Amino acid sequence: MSIQTTNPATNKVLKSFDEMTDKQLETAIEKSNSVFQEWKKISYGDRAKILHKVAELMRKKKSELAKLITLEMGKVIAQAESEIDLSASILDYYADNAADFLADKKLNPESGEAFIRNSPIGVLFGVMPWNFPFYQVVRFAAPNIMVGNTILLKHASIVPQCAIAMEELFKEAKAPEGLYINLMLSGKRSSALISDDRIKGVSLTGSEGAGSSIAAAAGKNLKKSVLELGGSDAFIILEDADIDTAVEMAIVGRMNNNGQSCVASKRFIAVEAIADEFLEKFVAKVAALKVGDPMDRDTQVGPLSSEEALINILDQVKRFEKAGAKILVGGKRAFDTGAFMQPTILTNLKRGVPTFYEELFGPVASFYKVKNEQEAIDLANDSPFGLGGSIYTKDIKRAIQLADQIDSGMVFINQPTSTQPDLPFGGTKNSGYGRELSQLGIDEFVNKKLIRVS
Ligand code: NAP
Repeated sequence: MSIQTTNPATNKVLKSFDEMTDKQLETAIEKSNSVFQEWKKISYGDRAKILHKVAELMRKKKSELAKLITLEMGKVIAQAESEIDLSASILDYYADNAADFLADKKLNPESGEAFIRNSPIGVLFGVMPWNFPFYQVVRFAAPNIMVGNTILLKHASIVPQCAIAMEELFKEAKAPEGLYINLMLSGKRSSALISDDRIKGVSLTGSEGAGSSIAAAAGKNLKKSVLELGGSDAFIILEDADIDTAVEMAIVGRMNNNGQSCVASKRFIAVEAIADEFLEKFVAKVAALKVGDPMDRDTQVGPLSSEEALINILDQVKRFEKAGAKILVGGKRAFDTGAFMQPTILTNLKRGVPTFYEELFGPVASFYKVKNEQEAIDLANDSPFGLGGSIYTKDIKRAIQLADQIDSGMVFINQPTSTQPDLPFGGTKNSGYGRELSQLGIDEFVNKKLIRVS
């Protein structure tokens, strides 16, 4: 049984679900396609009513939905509640702004008249990860539903109850049946769907491996794709930074979501003038973090999403050690029961060694001391990933100049990479392509149709 809820705080299997049969899958695709024929004719105002209703229901059920997140993937409960608030705000944002974003755009050709009309393209297939089970889904589904597209959603196999709850919200909001369909499907069967003529585009958030498989299928079938993949964001501390604030930000940036965020700060790069002071304070704070039951409001770091994820990262830490890294704090499983890891800081990592280029998806920071800002930028850019990054300094002009030199989709100054409905989110290099959120996020699966009047 590949689709099941296992509580990572206890490693107990709580519920199992059957995968869809091929026949059920066919019915779902057909349903999505037939709903599209109607949904594309519905006004923005009526589409917005459905999204506002879903947002309202989400807020009403916040406690219940947040508990499901914590139960299935181990996020600490207060962060799970914040995820529900953020997801509801994304639904409202697109409901409120889509009509403006998608309004006809008048062009000024040499002669005659012309404009661009934004038209929907049809059924979209979303493949989503477990780390933000509602937010990831909503940032893909909300803009596209406003465009007039319909959604088939394959969620990660370890969060089936969150996946079902999301579909239920649309049903309760009285969305047309089939506007949003949850597919109980394993990752292995996902890429095959892309060849179906009725599916017009695919968006995946997840690992490089899954991204490459989905993108290959999309390319073969000449379909548009968006990929939001991994990251290894640099967190650069310059000599004039406020060190105590930088340490606070480092804890948030690295340990949020138990360290399992694509845009977590993963590589901490400090210039030598302040490196020792920053490191001493960072190690002390990491060592003092309270690891434990994610339902307990005093807990700061919960379990990893699964025992498998824990084993993978422990193995990674061992491989880093073999390659010369030193563990300054943590490095081990935290308790006998559950997928808990001690918050960890590694140092002495060497550029050019294969481990240096891996993403650490858990509560494990890597620390580097460099001579100056130029070395910091070189090190930050020495990564296959290019998702986010952050810079800490009192000199904002200098920070903006440095931000310009970082090869990533997002750079934040004096705060770790974060997300909100009205700011674009996405990366470059192996972190993927395309953008979600803001106006950019609604333009990905749209036919920008030219209408020319002679
Ligand atoms: P994952 O294994 O790639 O899973 C993500 C989704 O892809 C799941 O629904 C999974 O299904 C499916 N999948 C797996 N293999 C597939 C394949 N060969 N073909 C098609 N679909 C496939 O990723 P993860 O381990 O859950 O998530 C962690 C990764 O996601 C990290 O690298 C993280 O940085 C990245 N991430 C990126 C962003 C971003 O916005 N850039 C956000 C969050 C996470 P199953 O669960 O059924 O295997």
